[in-house]
Amino acid sequence: MSARFGPAGNAADFPGKSSLEAPAWIRGLSLDVYEYQCGKGVNVSEKTARELGRRARAAGIGLSLHAPYFINLANPDPERLAKTTGYILAACQAADWMGAERVVIHSGSLMKRTRQAALDTAQESLHRVLGACDAAGYGAITLCPETMGKINQLGDLDEVLALCSIDERLIPCVDFGHLYARTLGKLDGEAAMEGILDKMARALGDARAARFHSHFSKIEFSPHGGEVRHLTFRQHDYGPAFEPLANAVARRGWSPTFICESAGTQAQDALAMKQTYEAARAVLLEQQPHGDVLF
Ligand SMILES: [Zn+2]
Repeated sequence: MSARFGPAGNAADFPGKSSLEAPAWIRGLSLDVYEYQCGKGVNVSEKTARELGRRARAAGIGLSLHAPYFINLANPDPERLAKTTGYILAACQAADWMGAERVVIHSGSLMKRTRQAALDTAQESLHRVLGACDAAGYGAITLCPETMGKINQLGDLDEVLALCSIDERLIPCVDFGHLYARTLGKLDGEAAMEGILDKMARALGDARAARFHSHFSKIEFSPHGGEVRHLTFRQHDYGPAFEPLANAVARRGWSPTFICESAGTQAQDALAMKQTYEAARAVLLEQQPHGDVLF
């Protein structure tokens, strides 16, 4: 197994008229996965979703789906939880039609409560959401709570790992740009990347941590709020750098899924990430020519 790479949604240079053409285009770029975007709502028809799934399987492209942004697991209002559950079920329905393996969900916002109070609510909500997904027959779809970029959002790494602790099927979506932005640039470089992966391994065990889901892009931040905007790899004012993460993942022999969320260049930047990772693996193989590195 090795890491997989691909874009979030359709890049600015995607030449197709509809997302149905995305899997073949992504395969042509030598990428591996495609994250279908339902951030503004789940509006894909069953016919389109099934056709996208058929084309992705034909092209050998793995699919994941980003659930609506307005999901808030930390809202204590039962009516809002019913709505959140409905959005997640709709996302799972679309993922099921497509044959997508993973659905990424945002953790929520603090709503002026303490982080612990928000986390307690989100854990309880997620427990109920999982029950609803199981009852609806979506138990095989992996929900991936995401680390968020703004400081007043629930979803630092510890909080996402705590959410994932309530059911062993949950896999974190670690957005390294978000973690970088919400720590005002602290989570960057080799020691930080090793620290993040170590913490995941401690919380989830090696086998589950090794399959983590991920978003990656450079992100501009402000000193008060955290995330401001996603950038491209051609912009160098902000991080994080991918190379230390590629080295750490290659050295561990882990097989995460990396979705690039660069602003418009997410397909070419995903390819740059894949090349950085392949180069890291090649260096490791050279250092251990007798094949005792396990991939
Ligand atoms: Zn997201």
